[in-house]
Amino acid sequence: MGFLLSIAAGYGQAETAFAATVVLDPGHGGNNEGAGSGSAFSEKRFTLALAQAVAAALSSKHRVELTRSADIELAPADRAAVANHLKADLMVSLHAAVAPYCSDRTAAVYIHNDERLVMGSGKTESSKSDPPAWETLQIRHQQNSQTVAEEIRIALEASGAFDHVAVYTAPLIALMGADLPAVLLEVGCIHPTVALTKDQYEQQLNAYAGPIAAAIETALDTLAP
Ligand SMILES: [Zn+2]
Repeated sequence: MGFLLSIAAGYGQAETAFAATVVLDPGHGGNNEGAGSGSAFSEKRFTLALAQAVAAALSSKHRVELTRSADIELAPADRAAVANHLKADLMVSLHAAVAPYCSDRTAAVYIHNDERLVMGSGKTESSKSDPPAWETLQIRHQQNSQTVAEEIRIALEASGAFDHVAVYTAPLIALMGADLPAVLLEVGCIHPTVALTKDQYEQQLNAYAGPIAAAIETALDTLAP
């Protein structure tokens, strides 16, 4: 009976925990193969498989949607539009660095900023040079995006799966129209010229997916209402 009661208590806790809507955005797709184009291990395939693995790890607790679940090309603005339409709590774009310009145990978290837009934001009157409204949507969430990026960085480093994780700020066309906290995560290293077995490939994916899912989980807590 005590066993049953403890299960019930467990369910009670799950119901009160913050259940978020997370949009995962597998980078590239279709003709846009990303790094290692032409390879079975190209970036567009890796990011989709990684997004699916991260989604599987998060979906027991959160609603997780992918901007693409197939090998299709998406315009950058369409990626943010998916997250905006779903009124998601967090958007994470996934990318991978490609050998030899990376290490398996590094990752980078990017947040969007565009100096030109920040400089323009002080103006009170709109002018013809003002950017379209959607280009400024992410700027309003910059503080939360920065906090999320820091939480992800700390969690990824603490996971032991990565030796070094950095946070960078850059103009990110896929995130600029995101009207919600959003980060772009570039993991590790893919090795398009190395023919991995299916097992090796899945091992590498899972080595990234578990820590990434846990890091997103930690970051979501900072956004909890
Ligand atoms: Zn990429």
